[in-house]
Amino acid sequence: MPDPLFIDDDDRYARFRLIAWWDQEKLAAAKIIVVGAGALGNEVLKNLALLGVGTVTIVDFDEIEESNLTRSVLFRSRDCGRPKAEAAAQALADINPAMKIQAMSANIITDVGLGLFRDADVVIGCLDNREARLWVNRQCWKATTPWIDGGIQEINGVVKVFAPPDGSCYECAMTENDYHLINLRYSCPLLRQEDIQAGKVPTAPTISSMIAGLQTQEALKLIHGMPVASGQAMIYNGLANNFYKTNYQRREDCLSHETYPDPIEAPLSAREHTAKDLFAAVHKQLNDQTNLRLSLDRDLVLSLDCTECGHSQEVMRPLQLVGMREAECSKCGKLSRPVLEHTIDEDSPLAERKLAELGVPPYDIVRVTTDQEEQVVLLAGDRENGP
Ligand SMILES: [Zn+2]
Ligand SMILES: [Zn+2]
Repeated sequence: MPDPLFIDDDDRYARFRLIAWWDQEKLAAAKIIVVGAGALGNEVLKNLALLGVGTVTIVDFDEIEESNLTRSVLFRSRDCGRPKAEAAAQALADINPAMKIQAMSANIITDVGLGLFRDADVVIGCLDNREARLWVNRQCWKATTPWIDGGIQEINGVVKVFAPPDGSCYECAMTENDYHLINLRYSCPLLRQEDIQAGKVPTAPTISSMIAGLQTQEALKLIHGMPVASGQAMIYNGLANNFYKTNYQRREDCLSHETYPDPIEAPLSAREHTAKDLFAAVHKQLNDQTNLRLSLDRDLVLSLDCTECGHSQEVMRPLQLVGMREAECSKCGKLSRPVLEHTIDEDSPLAERKLAELGVPPYDIVRVTTDQEEQVVLLAGDRENGP
C-alpha cells in the first residue's frame, strides 16, 4: 500500500493527484482543439499546458501585433509579426515539453477538416465573431464533440457549454439580429466585404483570465466525465460582480442539429486526390455503381462573371475566402457576380479536380449521396500527413 500522505515531489503532477477525483492519465490522453489564440486563447492554452493535457491543436490565422501584448501571456515583443498559432505553440512547449502541440495558422472554416473535430475530446472556442462560432457549433454537432464557447467585452464575460447531440446549441440561442450581423458580411453581391469587419472589442486581461479559467475548468470536468451544465450560459458582470446562469431552449427547427454516423474511411488526401477518386472509393465500398454526388459544405466560387462586359475570371475557392476587391472586373472595372456551386456530380467536369481545389480541406469528412442514401467519408489519407 502506498502511503497516502507521501507526496512525490519529483512528480510534476503530485499536487493534482491529491484531488480525490483527479485522473492525470485522462488529461494526458486528452485531445483538445483551441480555436483562436487571442486574449482568451492565450489564457486557455496556458491552463492546458499547466494541467498537462496531452494533445492540443491551436487554430488561428492572425499575426501578433504590439497591441496584443497587454492580453497575451504567451507572446513577447520579439514575436510581433509572427503567426499567433506558431508563437503560442512554442511558448507552450516551453511551459510543458511533454505536450503534443499542433499549430495551425489557418482559417477554422475553410482549412480545418471535420476529422480533427471528430478526433477531439473537447473544442474550446476563443473567438470574436458569430460566423466562426456558428461554424464551430455545426462542426461539433456533426462530430458529436462537446464545445465550450467563451466571450468577453471590457470587464464582462460569458461561458457556454454545448454537449451534442443533446440539449440546445449555440444556434438555438441565435436571434434575428445575430443572423443579420453574419449576413452583413456577405451582402450584395454575396461576397465578404472587407470593410464591414467586426469592430475590435476592447477587453481587460483580468476578464480574459477569468473566463478562460472557467472554460478550461469545464473542459477539465468533461474530460473526467463529470456532469456539466450544457445548453446554458454563465454570465458574469464585472462592474456589479453579478454571476448568473440562463438556460437556452432547444429549437427543434434549428439548422445545427445534424449529426453524422461513423464515416467510411477512404485512403484519400484532399490535396492529392480528385472527386473522381472519391467516387471510385465509395463505389468500391458500397459495391454499387449508382451515380454519386459530392455535397460541398463550403459554397465554392467557380468564377466571377462580369454582367457588363462578359469577362469571366476563374476563382475555385470557398466563398468565405473571396473578397469584394476581387469582384471588380479586371477588364471594365464593374462589379462581377460570383458563380457558386455546392454539389459535384459524378459526370461533371469538376469531378476531375483535386478535392482541395473544390474547397475541401485535408482530413475532412465529406458527404456523398446517391438518390437513396447519404454516406459520409473520412479522408483518412491526410491523417498521417497532418494538415
Ligand atoms: Zn440548435
Ligand atoms: Zn467587365
